[in-house]
Amino acid sequence: MSPVEIPLSAPDITDAEIEAVVSVLRTSRLSLGPKMAEFEAAMAAYVGAPHAIAVSSGTAGLHLALLALGIGPGDEVIVPSFTFIAVANAVRYVGAQPVFADIGPETLNLDPASVAVAITTRTRALIAVHTFGRPAPMAALLDIARRHNLLVVEDACEALGAEIAGRHVGTLADAGIFAFYPNKQLTTGEGGMVVTGNSEVAQRIAALRNHGRYKSGPGAPDCTAEPADPWFEHAELGYNYRLSEIQCALGLAQLARIDAILARREAITRRYCDLLRDDPHLLLPATDVPGQRLSWFVFGVRLAPAFSCADRDRVVNTLAERGITTGRYFAPIHLQPAYAAWRESTYLPITESVAARTVALPFFNRITDEQMERVCTALQCALRVESKFPA
Ligand SMILES: *Cc1c(COP(=O)(O)O)cnc(C)c1O
Repeated sequence: MSPVEIPLSAPDITDAEIEAVVSVLRTSRLSLGPKMAEFEAAMAAYVGAPHAIAVSSGTAGLHLALLALGIGPGDEVIVPSFTFIAVANAVRYVGAQPVFADIGPETLNLDPASVAVAITTRTRALIAVHTFGRPAPMAALLDIARRHNLLVVEDACEALGAEIAGRHVGTLADAGIFAFYPNKQLTTGEGGMVVTGNSEVAQRIAALRNHGRYKSGPGAPDCTAEPADPWFEHAELGYNYRLSEIQCALGLAQLARIDAILARREAITRRYCDLLRDDPHLLLPATDVPGQRLSWFVFGVRLAPAFSCADRDRVVNTLAERGITTGRYFAPIHLQPAYAAWRESTYLPITESVAARTVALPFFNRITDEQMERVCTALQCALRVESKFPA
């Protein structure tokens, strides 16, 4: 009999959250209603941002943030390759050119030195991704941006709750994006949120997500009112990137217990570290970084440099045979078929070396101690089989 499967990720939805969703279904407002306004206000308050705009996904948020900041054809935007493909795709959606920079081997975030050498006369912006919930080196990145007059977008999709010097990531630059896919710290099924301190950018994002509707005539523009309102006109090419009331109700209920969620995820991380510490085959992620609060999206371990990508893949397959799903996070974007045109001109040794040897372990709020022990035992057995070290 094969053992019970341990998934890579699993949602954590309480009865109260199910109730919150059902109660929206008993009302007559399923989109652009009070739950969206409440969710936006609660997110803005939680991260400490002046404006928050709910959107249908993190990708939609990236797209609209770049558009609202005026990035377009002819512009270059510096991005990491060791991340989710949506980061570079959003740059292409607005007609700009992604330029890949390398990461630091320990932080897995953009390496400021690599960013500096990627800057050309066309560079307009950089996207700092807070990878796996570890804050990017914002002070150094913002300093480079200031010197070269670049816009900075923070992709905080993996980092809700992470902080630098007491300030939430996502609020440290021109715009920040959060995402609520089921594997994230907070989920709405699908969803995202853009935060910004710039009221014009906020207003434009709110209009662009709703078919480019602005309220015409004098008075405060209200981009969230009923579509049937005769005061609306479509001022520019917009999109349908709205988040439904049902999703916003779920997000609000999840946000109400975000501290407990983040604490649970940190406890899982520490347990994994205790179980795997002192294994010479593995490099574990840092759990304590001075001046930062980490928020755990996934728990990724790196095989020692003696291991190859093929060794890593065999370890992943061995675990899969034992019912344990792990992730090959991340396959570098510049090596994806959709980025064949970038491959020749992109040289990212740290990204390629880290990506070849990283394994993301099962990581979800309700994982049990016994499941974590099973994962670690199976991982260590598989590593011994592949071991490059003398016994
Ligand atoms: C999850 C994620 C996104 C957004 O993903 P969606 O599926 O569009 O919500 C964007 N960037 C990063 C780095 C992510 O991890």
